[in-house]
Amino acid sequence: MYLSDFDLQQLEARNLAKLPVAEKNRLLEKMLGDLIEARERLAANSSTSSRPPSSDPPWSDPRSEAKPEESATEEATVGAGETSPDEPGPAAMPPDPVVMVAPPDDKPEATAPKKPGRQPGAPGHSRILTLAVTDTVLHAPTQCAVCDRPLGDEAFMARTGLYVLELVAGDGQGLRGLKVRHDKHLYGESACVCGHVTRTEPGRCPSEPLWQVSLSEWSLVGPHLVSLMVCLSLRMRLSRRSIQEFLHDWLGVRLSTSTINRCLHEAGRAVEPLEERLVDEVRQASLAYADETSWKEWGKLLWLWVISTSTVSLYLIGYRSAELITNALGGNFAGWLMTDGYKVYRQFRQRLRCWAHLVRKAQGLKESLTGEARLFGEASHALLTELMAAVYQAREGPPTSLADRYRARLEDFRNLCEQHRHSRHEKTRALACEFLNDWEAVWIVLAHPYLPLTNNEAERALRHWVILRRITQGTRTEQGSRALALLISVIETCRKRKHLPWPYLAQVIAERRKGNPAPPILAAA
Ligand SMILES: [Zn+2]
Repeated sequence: MYLSDFDLQQLEARNLAKLPVAEKNRLLEKMLGDLIEARERLAANSSTSSRPPSSDPPWSDPRSEAKPEESATEEATVGAGETSPDEPGPAAMPPDPVVMVAPPDDKPEATAPKKPGRQPGAPGHSRILTLAVTDTVLHAPTQCAVCDRPLGDEAFMARTGLYVLELVAGDGQGLRGLKVRHDKHLYGESACVCGHVTRTEPGRCPSEPLWQVSLSEWSLVGPHLVSLMVCLSLRMRLSRRSIQEFLHDWLGVRLSTSTINRCLHEAGRAVEPLEERLVDEVRQASLAYADETSWKEWGKLLWLWVISTSTVSLYLIGYRSAELITNALGGNFAGWLMTDGYKVYRQFRQRLRCWAHLVRKAQGLKESLTGEARLFGEASHALLTELMAAVYQAREGPPTSLADRYRARLEDFRNLCEQHRHSRHEKTRALACEFLNDWEAVWIVLAHPYLPLTNNEAERALRHWVILRRITQGTRTEQGSRALALLISVIETCRKRKHLPWPYLAQVIAERRKGNPAPPILAAA
């Protein structure tokens, strides 16, 4: 246990010389630990991070300034007439009557030119109580912050508290058999015989760049309930308003849509540290599939990218640029990369092209009214289908290469492509150029028939989210886009590893709200 600001305020006023030697030594040890941790935290900025500079997050738009979370604004949202729980009081002062405080609701986002949802200043309510209090939970200090003497509950004076809605499992397994709890959590202080007063407070994660949503136990919504909201929003594709209706009708929980929105963003912030680990794993993959689809962020055209490996699904929302994919995969990606024909992928050495796309384009030309197009389409289609069958057959037997067997055929086809490179028929020209530009990437699979022929893996990984985009019209803020990409990376990675994402997500939120690191995603089951 480290010394809080409240502890330090008392220590400053005290005559340390009066402390017995043993207590003074213990205190010194604690202060040393505190000092070391503070120094390390100070040093752990981007310039000393272990990640190479090329790995700067691709979504960080240099044009937008990072706006760190402002705790002052947050406290201002505490209900009028109520006392902020963070006001330090003199240790000797008789404890106030317990002040129950509404946790902060969402704050107006200064960046958004036109904020959707409740406008700043409009009357809002974060929660309407309909549930009776299930239990009172005391957060009493268990030992003195200075002398380590154990402190019993009898010395505890509650100073502040909050109500928390949380889901608990009815059967102890995962989240099945859900029940809602509505607990009153009391925080306060206990005086020790040594004279020091130790205080407890809800946990809080220090502010992090780019996030304006707070991440703390100072929340009326417990981690499992947040996890359920993420499931309803992203897997079940419900709007904020539908989630509100579901929670009210089925669980008797009434929350404002802005609270629901805040919780979803908080969950995104909670899982952010996991992204670096996913990026590291993707970079070491021997085979990755990449694809991209358009995404809307409040009218702005962006792209939702996915990079999928056997154990990770990494999603990113950003511009359709070479930087984005380079930043994600690193400059030296050594694995095979399956992609479509988009040119930003050409920088990767071991690239594979999806044949399904090429077959579809060849089929299109076959149906053309132009004779030249029809002939080129037929030739392309016939070659692709024949070689596809040969690849499937080669996979049945021992490892082999088909490259030599088809060398002459490919030479002929290359000449055919050269003939159509400047064709007047646009689609014929486009397909001929596509083959020529990506020649190696298209045919390399003949030398390694075990490699995939299509990018179905990445296309499947995008399908659910394409439907979500159609339903929701995309995201509304930069923070919303970040939260979505982070959450779906974690959800889909958990599913790929055959683990239920929701209890894990709740666990990450709970730890991060205390200011602890996020627990790692479990390895594939
Ligand atoms: Zn003490």
